[in-house]
Amino acid sequence: MSKLLVFGESMEGTLRNVSFEAVAAAKKIDADAEVVGVIFGSEDLKEQGEEIIRYGADRAVIVQHEKLENYTADAYGQAAMAVIQEESPDGIVMGHTSIGKDLTPKLATKLDSGLISDGVDIDNEGDNVAFIRPIYSGKAFEKKIITEGLTFVTIRPNNIKPLERNESRSGEVTAKHVDIGDIRTVIKDVISKASDGVDLSEANVIIAGGRGVKSKEGFEPLYELAEVLGGTVGASRGACDAEYCDYALQIGQTGKVVTPDLYIAVGISGAIQHLAGMSNSKVIVAINKDPESNIFNVADYGIVGDLFEVVPNLTEELKQLKLNV
Ligand SMILES: Cc1cc2nc3c(=O)[nH]c(=O)nc-3n(C[C@H](O)[C@H](O)[C@H](O)COP(=O)(O)OP(=O)(O)OC[C@H]3O[C@@H](n4cnc5c(N)ncnc54)[C@H](O)[C@@H]3O)c2cc1C
Repeated sequence: MSKLLVFGESMEGTLRNVSFEAVAAAKKIDADAEVVGVIFGSEDLKEQGEEIIRYGADRAVIVQHEKLENYTADAYGQAAMAVIQEESPDGIVMGHTSIGKDLTPKLATKLDSGLISDGVDIDNEGDNVAFIRPIYSGKAFEKKIITEGLTFVTIRPNNIKPLERNESRSGEVTAKHVDIGDIRTVIKDVISKASDGVDLSEANVIIAGGRGVKSKEGFEPLYELAEVLGGTVGASRGACDAEYCDYALQIGQTGKVVTPDLYIAVGISGAIQHLAGMSNSKVIVAINKDPESNIFNVADYGIVGDLFEVVPNLTEELKQLKLNV
């Protein structure tokens, strides 16, 4: 039986959904594997250890240390290496998040291992496990197979469905003590720039505004629509450059890569750099007054019209629909 480690990620004391997606990915790699959830942090992690088990891990290792309060490559790297050395896993799975993107290549180098990053799906092909990942800014996909060594992969949030949470599922939660030596980076303070609510890269519904929204105030109707749909607001770089919103909301080649179930592009022209961050969304709706706009080439549904009329109308209709359900 193979052993796969899943590095969970927590935010404000709660495990991020991508941790559970990584457990599901591990089970897709090998349904019979022993899946071990590994969680780092400075607070009490027992509940998080139990939670990752409820989502399908067989057991959990929790590593609590004051130097793990905030992510630093040095501290997390040392803690992760200590767990890897003790557990000798056949594979490691982590979310392709900003932490995952930073930590996993460093670990792969230390382990002299390959790494398949940003997987969006996993196929079992006979004896091989194939990882599907987007290339050329999402314009094509490639399949990669690991032929020897560690199965080390990161998975893009929101692509692999977590297993059903099972309240009665239990397993061993072991606390591991690690010595963390010098760390070269000291985090003095963390100032959160993103708006309240769901992290963009994990959101199921995104309402993204572009330069067509025309002002900071112009974003207000987008927030209202997001609230009705239980979604979150994103933006094009055009809108960020124009200072209508914070760069933390930027989606695209130089912003966040997102794959929500529903992406509503409002007043966004669909430049190739923007498409690189959202074209793999499951359903794309575009609202634009220009019928020739490139965004309609990737949209499943298009609404040609003035966003200042369309968005409030849509919000109102959806509110009514909710009331009548
Ligand atoms: C190296 C590099 C990296 C980049 N990275 C990114 C990135 O990560 N993300 C990104 O988004 N861009 C990125 N860009 C910028 C990108 O090329 C575009 O300039 C940008 O995406 C344009 O933003 P936009 O669609 O909001 O604005 P515009 O192209 O100006 O489009 C505005 C749209 O709004 C529509 N509109 C206007 N008024 C209304 C109205 N009342 N009702 C309905 N529709 C209306 C217009 O028809 C138009 O289609 C990058 C560029 C470079 C060179």
